[in-house]
Amino acid sequence: MTDDAKSFLFDLLDTPSPTGFETPGQRVWADYVRPHVDALETDDYGTAWATLSGSAGDGPSLMFDAHVDEIGFMVRHITDDGFIYVNRIGGSDRAIARGLRVRVLGDNGPVTGVVGNTAIHIRDTSNEKVPKVHELFVDVGAEDEDGVHDLGIRVGHPMVFDVGPTELSGPRITARAIDNRLGGFIIAQVLERLSDDPPAWTVQGANSVQEEIGGHGAQMITHRLNPDAAVAFDVTHATDSPGISSAEHGEVRMGEGPAVTHGTSTHPQVVQRLMQVAEENDIPLQHEPSGRRTGTDTDSIFKTRSGVPSGLVSVPLRYMHSTVEVVDTEDIEQCVQLLTAFARSLDADDAFGVSL
Ligand SMILES: [Zn+2]
Repeated sequence: MTDDAKSFLFDLLDTPSPTGFETPGQRVWADYVRPHVDALETDDYGTAWATLSGSAGDGPSLMFDAHVDEIGFMVRHITDDGFIYVNRIGGSDRAIARGLRVRVLGDNGPVTGVVGNTAIHIRDTSNEKVPKVHELFVDVGAEDEDGVHDLGIRVGHPMVFDVGPTELSGPRITARAIDNRLGGFIIAQVLERLSDDPPAWTVQGANSVQEEIGGHGAQMITHRLNPDAAVAFDVTHATDSPGISSAEHGEVRMGEGPAVTHGTSTHPQVVQRLMQVAEENDIPLQHEPSGRRTGTDTDSIFKTRSGVPSGLVSVPLRYMHSTVEVVDTEDIEQCVQLLTAFARSLDADDAFGVSL
């Protein structure tokens, strides 16, 4: 990964964009992508998309999709003595919350707080369980409720864990929200590489809002763009850290390339093309089954209007939805190469369908 690319990725990872409040992340993404594409637009709920016009003119279009939002928490209640109780935004992990710093995104800018952790000496540790969400409270240092309001914080303001990205040894990095700021990063890299010599199909890269609560942004943008095919990128569970059963969760390993999903929402011919392109370009590919739902934007995309032939490509990620998500940058590069080659493989008269 080049220094420029890494600093863009770290910038994305460091910019809070909880579901419903994604605009700061979109601005970072748009500033990077804009010089490489023919148009950059947004819809009313904040999904951004970039268009690279195809060399075949008014030919077919391919949509790449990733999601810009991240999980977080939201102010539910402020007590008289200035503590903040929270709601979850998406599938935030309450098991890791206590003892971490948060950034509350209030009206006067970000406010640092901590998720209170009663000292081990004075709490009852017999039978300790994972706390319920309503047992978590945030301390921003205010003396009372008015002190919290004075910081520009009210009920309904979002917050994220205040943990930025950093490098581990070798090609691996750790951060919060690699799920799925990484997808926007990959789309940006793919568009940048394609822009030197645009492929036959028009390529539209969408950075969709509100995936973590059900793929809503992807649903809106697919309806709007009405693409002839789509590929979504997300992260998937790497199962190669201790304590994960392959019998239960399958096997996806870090550093062994992106994973392609085979299932009901993914179109067999799109999947076949992805596999063919990977083989032709010596890109390692892992495989995942999906019997019903993928839990990604693909579930929204494929059934829009009269159906959009779709694929799903995922990068292996350890410790998903935590502050210590880990990804291998070589898997990221393989994913960029795969999607770039996929877009280039599409001829003007290619179509994905079913003939009887
Ligand atoms: Zn997620």
